[in-house]
Amino acid sequence: MDGLRADLERLASIPSISFPGYPPEPVEEAHDLIVALLREAGVPSIERIDLPDTAPVIYGEIPPPHPDAPTVLLYGHYDVQPAGAASLWLSPPFEPTPVPGGLRARGIADDKSNVIAHLGMLRVYGGRPPVGIKLVIEGQEEYGSPFDDYPPTDPARFACDAMIIADLGNLRPGTPTLTTGLRGACEVTVEVRTLAEPRHSGEFGGAAPDALLVLLRALATLHDKNGDVAVPGLRRDPWDGTTYTEEEFRELASVLPDLPLIGTGSLGERLWSGPAITVIGLDAPSVDHAASAVVPYARAKLNLRFHPHQDPREARALLVAHLRAQAPFGIPLTVTPGDTGPGFEARTGGPAYRAALTALKEAWGTQASYVATGGSIPLVNGLAQAAPGAEVLLFGAQDSMCNLHAPNERVLLSELRNTVVAMAAFVREYAADFEPAPPPAPPAPHDPAASGGAR
Ligand SMILES: [Zn+2]
Repeated sequence: MDGLRADLERLASIPSISFPGYPPEPVEEAHDLIVALLREAGVPSIERIDLPDTAPVIYGEIPPPHPDAPTVLLYGHYDVQPAGAASLWLSPPFEPTPVPGGLRARGIADDKSNVIAHLGMLRVYGGRPPVGIKLVIEGQEEYGSPFDDYPPTDPARFACDAMIIADLGNLRPGTPTLTTGLRGACEVTVEVRTLAEPRHSGEFGGAAPDALLVLLRALATLHDKNGDVAVPGLRRDPWDGTTYTEEEFRELASVLPDLPLIGTGSLGERLWSGPAITVIGLDAPSVDHAASAVVPYARAKLNLRFHPHQDPREARALLVAHLRAQAPFGIPLTVTPGDTGPGFEARTGGPAYRAALTALKEAWGTQASYVATGGSIPLVNGLAQAAPGAEVLLFGAQDSMCNLHAPNERVLLSELRNTVVAMAAFVREYAADFEPAPPPAPPAPHDPAASGGAR
């Protein structure tokens, strides 16, 4: 752990941000450091995949120790979110700083902790784990990259029996968690024009149609009076895995005291196996610059999250059709569909899941839980298409309380340690499933003396 912690601190002190406008040198520096660490850990073959407009992807291979051994693909990313306003940080974001039980820095959890966990697993085995390894460590996950679509174009490279997508973590520290579902996501823009120009609200208000009012009435139809999504056809199922307590969720979501949550049913159903629609942007005159005028034009951007199994184009079409059917006061809206991407649901119950349940229990000392997440990891679908038979495991050293993408991101060293133990135990357990059956024991000689004096 001392060595892993030191390497994590080195890695987290590099501001490897792949967003436009940030210098590329730190991204290259983080890339080079990981390549050097992997070489030291015994990865014999490492390549650099360069695609247009993307930070380099690190691809490494350790061949399987015997022809029957399975191959496990390990995924993580070395780029990080921008730090945001420095004034919100309790210590400089790229100076890893001790906090109780862990370290604080941008990217130290998401996802550098998991890159280091992969390294730790390799070190446990001196670079010779009992399975074949493929390492995929990308450098532009946070901004989005054409790499998401690359794996199906080169399936041989990504062929494997199981993959550990380590860009996630536990529901709460100390609760080992396998994420089995990711909701799909899409964006839709809706706009209304009612007048060529603003007009005096005293002279024209009351009869001239107000674009903002029209838009608000349409947006108000997206949810029922309880706050459940009211767009017909968006799939919603009961959630039978684990979920947050309401108290945990309120704290994580920073809901102000005494306010109710919205929607009905279990939190798992509202957050993971049902839809959510959020108005993420609204163009209208700002309050500070408000004139006494009827608003001629308004626009909103909506973000829809939908059931992991719902077809992304179908989900988007349902939202678009619902909005187009609205015509508040008889005034139609212009609805423009944006990007849509599928969710993901892992097949559980195979040998890799059995091995992972054993391994996570061994590492944390308690039975693992299944959860889903509302976030998406677009590359998961690319990898799953490239290796359709592979079992997909999503776990890692992050936890829900580590301030991902927010100020004061931190990782707990206990979670990092347990993740390394879990990965090491996983490859041991999983490899054992593929061991050739031992040859039948030779018959015991009935007379030791006759066989030449065996002792
Ligand atoms: Zn991440």
